[in-house]
Amino acid sequence: TKWVYGFGSGANEGRAGMRDLLGGKGANLAEMAAIGLPVPPGFTITTEVCTSFYENGRTYPAELKAQVDAALHGVEETLGLRFGDPVAPLLVSVRSGARVSMPGMMDTVLNLGLNDITVDGLTVSSGDPRFAWDSYRRFIQMYGSVVLGVSHHRFEDLIEETKRAAGVQDDTRLSAEDWQDVVAGYKDIVLRETGAPFPMDPHEQLWGAIGAVFGSWMNPRANTYRRLHDIPASWGTAVNVQTMVFGNMGEDCATGVCFTRDPSTGENVFYGEYLINAQGEDVVAGIRTPQPMSEARARGDELSMEKALPDAYRELLAVRDILERHYRDMQDIEFTVQGNRLYMLQTRTGKRTAAAALRIAISMAEEGLITHEEAIRRVPPSSLDQLLHPTLDPDAPRTLLSRGLPASPGAAAGAIVFTAEDVEIRAARGEDVILVRIETSPEDVHGMHAARGVLTTRGGMTSHAAVVARGMGRVCVAGAGGIHVDYRARTLSVGATTLHEGEWITLDGATGEVFAGRVGTIEPTLSGDFSTLMGWADRTRRMKVRANAETPEDAETARHFGAEGIGLCRTEHMFFAPDRIGFVRQMIMAGDDAARTRAIDALLPFQREDFKALFRIMAGLPVTIRLLDPPLHEFLPHGESELAEVAAALSESVEALAARKAALSESNPMLGHRGCRLGLTYPELYAMQARAIIEAAIAVSGESGEKVVPEIMIPLVGLETELRRTRANVEAVAAEVVAATGVALEYSIGTMIELPRAALTADRIAQDADFFSFGTNDLTQTTFGLSRDDAGTFMPFYLEHDLIPRDPFISIDQEGVGQLVAMGVEKGRRTKPGLKLGVCGEHGGDPASIGFFETVGLDYVSCSPFRVPIARLAAAQAAL
Ligand code: PEP
Ligand code: MG
Repeated sequence: TKWVYGFGSGANEGRAGMRDLLGGKGANLAEMAAIGLPVPPGFTITTEVCTSFYENGRTYPAELKAQVDAALHGVEETLGLRFGDPVAPLLVSVRSGARVSMPGMMDTVLNLGLNDITVDGLTVSSGDPRFAWDSYRRFIQMYGSVVLGVSHHRFEDLIEETKRAAGVQDDTRLSAEDWQDVVAGYKDIVLRETGAPFPMDPHEQLWGAIGAVFGSWMNPRANTYRRLHDIPASWGTAVNVQTMVFGNMGEDCATGVCFTRDPSTGENVFYGEYLINAQGEDVVAGIRTPQPMSEARARGDELSMEKALPDAYRELLAVRDILERHYRDMQDIEFTVQGNRLYMLQTRTGKRTAAAALRIAISMAEEGLITHEEAIRRVPPSSLDQLLHPTLDPDAPRTLLSRGLPASPGAAAGAIVFTAEDVEIRAARGEDVILVRIETSPEDVHGMHAARGVLTTRGGMTSHAAVVARGMGRVCVAGAGGIHVDYRARTLSVGATTLHEGEWITLDGATGEVFAGRVGTIEPTLSGDFSTLMGWADRTRRMKVRANAETPEDAETARHFGAEGIGLCRTEHMFFAPDRIGFVRQMIMAGDDAARTRAIDALLPFQREDFKALFRIMAGLPVTIRLLDPPLHEFLPHGESELAEVAAALSESVEALAARKAALSESNPMLGHRGCRLGLTYPELYAMQARAIIEAAIAVSGESGEKVVPEIMIPLVGLETELRRTRANVEAVAAEVVAATGVALEYSIGTMIELPRAALTADRIAQDADFFSFGTNDLTQTTFGLSRDDAGTFMPFYLEHDLIPRDPFISIDQEGVGQLVAMGVEKGRRTKPGLKLGVCGEHGGDPASIGFFETVGLDYVSCSPFRVPIARLAAAQAAL
């Protein structure tokens, strides 16, 4: 087996495509050398060695030593230097390099090869004894702590002592002799701490460092990082051994870190920092202030690299150009200048903000560097969230209070309020407030609307709070179980910290973080780039994108973001307005049909106006209206006064109503009297809704000439008989309205597929359906037997312990729930080849799920208005 690959010397054996084997750093060093860029020669020990090392009780493959010796010899030949040579010593760095970068997680050793003899060689070749001894002591310090496990502060203490003795403040004031004393002291420390002298043999040093890098792959820091970023331990790290170049050998030396374009705006400018006479860590360590690259960016007494090192700067500009042309993406590079000569130490795809990703993708496509398809692929759909919502000011100070689920993105700060009523009162006074609830219910919707954000301590990603907040574009952190809410005392507490009503908190709905006090936020701006990319995406995608919306405001937002219709109008959300809820309660609590009919008739005009408003805004685009779905109990009167109100309206006794309420209460409402079961037991209710829809559609068609084609959707169907009977009810009403008005209207009747039985019998159900819309929230809930509202309490545990890869309420479980969707599609189309198919669960706005819906062949996805752009882009990526 080949375990070692050379780069930059005669044998340049790797390429960028070999990242799995050589790690990102190693593969790109080889690539840069291959395209003629100045890379100090070295070699990469493959990730397979790491894997083998751990599989074989921390031992190396037998051939490794010979291969390392040969590679090292190649480097020596190329440079005319020799490892351990007293006159012309070869010095190397030893660094880790995994497939994906794991910044700062693993260990590095620089200046390796120095010892009591080679330090003299370095003195001669650099002409600077101070530099040589400083390098030597840096090496012992790094090697001592990384490889030999000597505590870092032992070394630091000695430097402090030496400075005190020399009467200086700054490391740079210490002389060659001082550093020589420090080296002697360091060697004593190593002997004392480890019981063995510091290794003088460069080969022993090298193997020690290689072992330490492989060992660091399994250190706790790296393990945690891998877990957080889904990096399998089996990938392993490579080890890069590379000739040292020194950016700290004088005023014609420097080191720097750059991006080929601005990583925060994406602007096509060379962006970065450098330091004269410094080594790599100094730039990041923050001891000295790094200086700007170009003269145009230099302010005050800053010294640009363009001015200080013009030749190396010009060369670097050329390298920037070559790298961008070659990699066709923005690069993040590290370089060193030694004696006015430029050396490249690293290149990789640069991390960037969402705005920069957009700008770079579009401008590179316009420059002809990439195609439109590539530009579409380059922007992560979920990152668009950053562009549509306010975000926390990255520079604002903050105190983390607790953490919940990132239920609805954006950042919001406001005073803590515990009831929807108080939200409305304070919001009416112009105050910014955050509604804090253990969980929310439909009655809180008006308060959620008036609040800046919503925080709940219970519930998952499809809990009421999460779904509603996303729909309205309100910030929401859900299921923050570490927070204790006391409604009576009007406080929330986390450990020993207690905050009272009126005190401020800040939510970051993108991360789920909750901060004490007010953290500054930044407003979003939609650039021209955004619409350009959306245009490209729209031309690419096959699936349509609709929105889940019921209020005129949400419908407007949906259209603004490019929705091509409404895929789900949840009519129950229209029933809670203060002017209607009374009638809704009377309808449910009515003692006889006459009283029920009176209440339902009172609701008709409200519904008709609701639907007219939606049809007008959607102007001929399809609008799917779902008949009433939720469990009855959500509408029951709470408390004495509400009960008394309903009793009075129905002319009945409070006792009679209390008894009826008790009879209606359910132990498991989610699996109870809801959906089409309601419509079957109270046919007047669905009849009223159907009438309102048809009348509204006829009215709006008449006023605008725009043809309104409503889609009436029946929820929670599990039996074909349920759909058949409900359909007959709706059709009868429609026929009546058409006969009465004399206007014919096209409409369709379909069903949600949101129960396993519906998916399993979709061929039969399709006989009476003009369309299917997969309700993947309930389908997930019922397939897993996992409550949407209670999953939040244990789902974090499942995720942490790798019991499940992702929350199935966020990203569709393709293996399980996905099979039911695929089956529903297949069986439905077998009965009706032209059956229109969509999805309106929360998964309709999740990029990974959208990819899946493309593969099963849905016609459209429907999601909350603020996710429409994300879905448009994700659908385009899925179609590529
Ligand atoms: C669903 O179940 O996926 C759905 C869209 O309906 P709701 O979330 O209103 O239950
Ligand atoms: Mg549902």
